[in-house]
Amino acid sequence: MKNKLINIKNEALAMIMGASDTSELERLRINYLGKNGSLTQIAKDFKDLSSEEKADIGRIFSEAKSAIENALDEIKFNTRKVSENIDQTLPGKPVRVGLMHPISAVAREMNDIFRYLGFSVADGPEIEDDEFNYNRLNLPKDHPARDLQDSLYIKEPDILLRTHTSSLEAHILATHKPPFRFVFPGKSYRYENVSASNHMIFFQYEGIAVGENITMANLKSTLETFIHMFFGPERKSRFRCKYYPQVEPGVGVDIDCQFCQQKGCSVCKNRGWVEMLGAGMIHPNMFRMVGIDPAKYSGFAWGMGLDRITMSRYKLNDIRALFNGNLEYKI
Ligand SMILES: [Zn+2]
Repeated sequence: MKNKLINIKNEALAMIMGASDTSELERLRINYLGKNGSLTQIAKDFKDLSSEEKADIGRIFSEAKSAIENALDEIKFNTRKVSENIDQTLPGKPVRVGLMHPISAVAREMNDIFRYLGFSVADGPEIEDDEFNYNRLNLPKDHPARDLQDSLYIKEPDILLRTHTSSLEAHILATHKPPFRFVFPGKSYRYENVSASNHMIFFQYEGIAVGENITMANLKSTLETFIHMFFGPERKSRFRCKYYPQVEPGVGVDIDCQFCQQKGCSVCKNRGWVEMLGAGMIHPNMFRMVGIDPAKYSGFAWGMGLDRITMSRYKLNDIRALFNGNLEYKI
């Protein structure tokens, strides 16, 4: 039996060394170590041996088994590494490294500017309930501003895809004690006809600052600093009165058209100015709803279209280019 074991081992090792592919190795593994394999079969005769023989033969059996197993593992490893005639000294194929999506690149650039101005970057859920998407933003059920937004409901009447990142503003107000400053880039959804200038998925970039003695002057200096750092120190801006339910007073902020130097073109619709963002001093109702005292604290908030800023940065004329995944788009 001893010789038989040694023969099986030697035969198996020779066969394994000569194997040409992994399927042959698998076949050899079954032939020797499988349920009906020759090594397994021989173990069935152990019961007829005396206890001294058992100890001796058992040792040889274990050695043979582990030698075959090791050989199988080793050659498997080697076949994976050096399968065919590969010249390992040749240089590898270049790996295609992707670039960051323009929206992410612009958002990060903006995050850096606002971090410099003392803001932290926040993130929040894209699926919202009616309370945080509307009520907490000073938009009760009968408020006419709700008609401006055709919403995409997950489950009527309460669960919907957020129609603006302002819902995160409501979450921050509810969970943080003043003073705080946050910016939050994120995706929003509205039921829109998709065209070159509108999409049902769009990105916004919002910010909020709350504390004692925060005034319109802080709002103006923060946004003007951002405009100069992001668009260049030569950019001019103007602030116009505008209505937004979350703020009182509200302002629309324009920058001078960088495409025509204010001479008038299709981008600025011959106005010479391009609307950049909406902003204002946070409405006292927003504070009252979360138990922040509006007599003690004040704050400002703003929101801008991140994809519009990205389009202007990369001179894109079709918003769909940001979402269709066409890598051939030349920018
Ligand atoms: Zn223009």
